[in-house]
Formats: sequence, C-alpha cells, structure tokens
Amino acid sequence: DTLVNQIAAGEVIERPASVVKELVENAIDAGARRIDIDLEEGGVRLIRVRDDGGGIAPEELALAVQRHATSKISSLDDLEAVATLGFRGEALPSIASVSRFIIASRRGDDDHGIALAVDGGRVGEPAPKQQPAGTTVEVRDLFYNVPARRKFLRAERTELGHIEEWLRQLALARPDVELRVSHNGKPLRRYKGDGGALFSGERLAETLSEEFLANALQVDHAAPLSTDSGSLMRLSGWIAQPAYSRASTDQQYLFVNGRAVRDRSIAHAVKQAYADVLFHGRQPAYVLFLEVDPRRVDVNVHPAKHEVRFRDGRAIHDFVYRTLQAALAETRA
Ligand code: ADP
Ligand code: MG
Repeated sequence: DTLVNQIAAGEVIERPASVVKELVENAIDAGARRIDIDLEEGGVRLIRVRDDGGGIAPEELALAVQRHATSKISSLDDLEAVATLGFRGEALPSIASVSRFIIASRRGDDDHGIALAVDGGRVGEPAPKQQPAGTTVEVRDLFYNVPARRKFLRAERTELGHIEEWLRQLALARPDVELRVSHNGKPLRRYKGDGGALFSGERLAETLSEEFLANALQVDHAAPLSTDSGSLMRLSGWIAQPAYSRASTDQQYLFVNGRAVRDRSIAHAVKQAYADVLFHGRQPAYVLFLEVDPRRVDVNVHPAKHEVRFRDGRAIHDFVYRTLQAALAETRA
C-alpha cells in the first residue's frame, strides 16, 4: 500500500508547495479561521500547518491517513458538485508515504487530542496528546525515502517562491482566513483575516500591491449562463487601469468557483477587452472571480486541479469579454 501511495504522491505531490496546498486546503475545508504555516529550508526540511478548524475525532484519525478515506463525499452525486476543496482522500496518505509525517488533532469539545506518526508510509499507533483545538500536520524531510524525487527539488529560494505564490492565490481567494507564514524561524508573511468582506481591498494590497489597489477597477456582474440551464454566471473582482499595466503576466489571477485556475480562453477574453479599449503591448493586472454552476464545470481534468473544462466555454468567454470591456470603457468616458 505504501507503494500505491507513493505512486499517487508522484502525481499530486510535485514539490513542497503541493504539500502546503493540500494541507492548507484541508484546514480550510475544516472551517479554519486562522492558519499558521511554518517552513524550513523552502519546505523541504519542514512544513507545519496548524489550524483552528473543527478537528478530527480520535477514532477517525487513523482513517485520515488511509487511501480514499475522505470524509467529504458520500455519493457519486456529491462528486459532481464538489464544494469542498479536497475530495479524493489521497493527499494525506500520499504525503505521509514520502516524508516523516505527524498529524495531531483535537475537536473543541474533547478534553485531549490525539496524534499519529507515519514514517515513510509506516503508520504508527495513535496516542493521546495535549493539543489546542484544531489540527496540526507536520511534514519533515519530504522525499527522504524517494531519492529520485528529491533530486528534482530546486534551491530553497525557488521552492519557497512556489509556496509563496500559491499562498498569495489562496489569500486572494479567501480574505476571510488569516494566514501567518514563517520561514527558518522568522515571520515571512501575515495576511490578516478581514471578517469575510466580499471585496477586500486590503487583501489585494497585502498580496499584490497598494498601487494595484489604487488603480483597481472593481467589477461585479452576473448574467444567465445559458438558455437551458437556468443558472447564472457571475464575474467579480478587479482589473487594473493602464496606469498599472504590467510588462509580464505576473499579476493575472483567475478563480473559478473559488479555485485558482489557468484558462486560456478566459485569459484571452480579458486580454482582448483590455487591448480593445486601451492599448496593445502591455499586460493587464487582474484578480477575477468567476462563479458558475459547478455542475457545468469539470474540475477533474487534472489531479492538481489547475485546469477546468466548461460546458459553456463560448458563452463564458463572451461574458467575460463584454463585462470587462464595458467596465474599462467607462473609465475612458
Ligand atoms: P480529502 O481532503 O480529499 O478528503 P485528505 O487525504 O486530504 O483527503 O484528507 C483525508 C481526511 O482527513 C479528510 O477527508 C478529513 O476528514 C481529514 N482531515 C485532513 N486534514 C484535516 C484538517 N486539517 N482538519 C480536519 N480534518 C482533516
Ligand atoms: Mg485534502
């Protein structure tokens, strides 16, 4: 089984940033309001994610590190409309098969917590542990037992950069969650939770720049998705005015139903609206949130879920184009 998990890890766990993503998404699925992330050596030596979420029942802790033990899906129907971030039940066993892994958890009402260590896939015995309410997962020495994978890890700065970029995406998508990040014992980032404001300008400034915020055009527009589905699509977020245009695509963020996604067609629609109304040659900076009926989006295209497939791709492209074109045109008038 360890081998199966290691193979799964090969697909989902590319590098420390993938571990951070899986652990932080679990924390969010558990309702965390605050997440502390401690890293050492670009996450290769240590990734520790501590959350104040609902925790895990003592009798379920061992299950959490077993393959396909997800608490988030109970029927095929759920699979079609996945609201939580993780749903495959693969992340923890995969990570635990290629690291020295400890999970400790306590539910708010339990008087003590419980901890479980897994070393390179060898699962230990759960033991009682003093633990604040919530869950802490510690991942040390990633790929220590898979030299072929370890060899592909890059310099500390590079790995840390990937982690920071992913955290920036998350911070944009979830301004309601407070994130604190440390690296090699020093505070690195703090994204303050904003209590759930829909458009957190503060978060935009914290993650990208004050200057982006100062030049940001806010959009929020909804339209029928298609004549037969009866549901709406909604585009919200910010696009920067040309005073803040960029030489590269470094500040282009798209979220579909809360997930950071790369989508050529939508990127094209944004660029097109920008180029039409303003001028060519520069890149728009944007943070856009698209919401569409999850039943009309396939999120299972890629195991790491960076890509999605839309049933109404054309309509969505045109909607994004028209919405941004109108918003940008207004600033010229
Ligand atoms: P998935 O997220 O796809 O369900 P994971 O392997 O990431 O699979 O996690 C397995 C299970 O462990 C989750 O379904 C959840 O029940 C539990 N779990 C993992 N991390 C946490 C956490 N931080 N807080 C509460 N429960 C957690
Ligand atoms: Mg998960």
